[in-house]
Amino acid sequence: MAARLKRDDEVLVIRGRDKGRRGKIQRVFPDKDQILVEGINMVKRHYKAGVQGRQAGIVDKEMPLDASKVMPICPSCDKPTRVSVKILDDGTKSRGCKRCEGMLN
Ligand SMILES: [Zn+2]
Repeated sequence: MAARLKRDDEVLVIRGRDKGRRGKIQRVFPDKDQILVEGINMVKRHYKAGVQGRQAGIVDKEMPLDASKVMPICPSCDKPTRVSVKILDDGTKSRGCKRCEGMLN
C-alpha cells in the first residue's frame, strides 16, 4: 500500500459492513495490505473462564480489514480523499490531499 495509509490516520470505510463509518487507524499490516481501525470490523470474541487471569465473557474486538476498503480523510478539508505521495529532496515521503493540496502528515 506504499505510504498511502499510516497509523493514526482517520479513515472512511467505503466498502463492506461498516461502510460510511469513520475510525482511526491503530495498526498497519503492510505485508498483508490490511489495517486495524478503531471501532471498525468488530467481532465478538467469546472467552472461556479458566485461562490465566482472563475473565469469561464476550468481548468486542476489532479485526483487520483490507486497506482497499477505506479512504483516508484529509484533516484540512475533512473529506475522504485520494492521496498523492511525493518523495522529497531529502528522501522522505510526503503525502498530500488530491482535493485541497493540503498535507496529510
Ligand atoms: Zn484536503
